[in-house]
Amino acid sequence: MATERKALPVIDKTRCTGCGWCVAVCPPHVLSLAVANWQKTATLHDGPGCTGCAKCAVRCPFAAITMRRIPDPDGTR
Ligand code: SF4
Ligand code: SF4
Repeated sequence: MATERKALPVIDKTRCTGCGWCVAVCPPHVLSLAVANWQKTATLHDGPGCTGCAKCAVRCPFAAITMRRIPDPDGTR
C-alpha cells in the first residue's frame, strides 16, 4: 500500500482561463474555481479526494492541467 501512487492534477495558473470545464467533469467534485487578483482559476481543494482519473486534464481546452504522480520527492520540475 505504501508504494501505491496516484497522479494529481497540477493546474498552470498562467494558462487557466477559469472556464470551469474541469470542475464540471470531475466525478468526485474536488475541483473548484477560486478568485484571486480578479481572475478565476481552477484549484484542487481536496487532493486526497481526487481519484487521479485525469478527466479534468483531458477536458481542459487550454492544456492547463498536467497530471503528476505523488508522492515523489523528485517529482518537481
Ligand atoms: S478546464 Fe482548464 S482552463 Fe478551464 S478552468 Fe479548468 S484548468 Fe482552467
Ligand atoms: S483527476 Fe479526476 S478526480 Fe482528480 S481532479 Fe481531475 S477529474 Fe477530479
